[in-house]
Amino acid sequence: MTEYKISWWEPTDRERQWLRRYTSSSDHKCAATGSYCNAKFELGEADILYTKDGYICGDRDNRKPPESDPRWPKLCDACGRPFGAEDPYQLFGKQIYVCEATGARSTLDKVPVGACWDAWWISERRKDGPTGCSHTCGPDHRSLVVKLPGNHDWLIDSRASNCTKPDDGDHFCWVRTGRPEDGTLHVGKDGNTCSAGAGSIAVPGFHGFLHHGVLRDC
Ligand SMILES: [Zn+2]
Ligand SMILES: [Zn+2]
Repeated sequence: MTEYKISWWEPTDRERQWLRRYTSSSDHKCAATGSYCNAKFELGEADILYTKDGYICGDRDNRKPPESDPRWPKLCDACGRPFGAEDPYQLFGKQIYVCEATGARSTLDKVPVGACWDAWWISERRKDGPTGCSHTCGPDHRSLVVKLPGNHDWLIDSRASNCTKPDDGDHFCWVRTGRPEDGTLHVGKDGNTCSAGAGSIAVPGFHGFLHHGVLRDC
């Protein structure tokens, strides 16, 4: 049995940045991946820019280096096909999170198994709104995500694929109590719920429970 202790991660005001070239998949399918041709050069860290509403500003165009900058990738990382002049030049960024307990920093695609964070962008506008699986909003008006093995993200407050009450959006397919910050986060079926499962989470390659701050396979 493998155990993963839940760790709490908070967003920082910093992001990792890459110079990215890609080809739209409607124009071309990558010979190596079957998806789109893509390449990234890592620039390092920078401050995140926010919109006046407090959202992360996705448009970094006024901060990117000129197209003549030699650091822009010239070839697809997967198949080696050269990019054309018409392919986009994108300054790509991912927010950095920090684990308060250990000081570790990471983007969300690289956090360790058991990492938990609030997907605030889902429930931000619902501070006073309804909770339940159809709103992807938990009892504390947060939308908590836990990193599972295989780099799968479990949105605990979302609707389970095998939910037995599809016409009711106010129940929780997974009932969570406690808090990820202090090691008490617990997920079960004790409350306003449906008949789906026993509170476990199953993704390709992993099936387990989150009980009393610990994720365990079963
Ligand atoms: Zn390619
Ligand atoms: Zn349900």
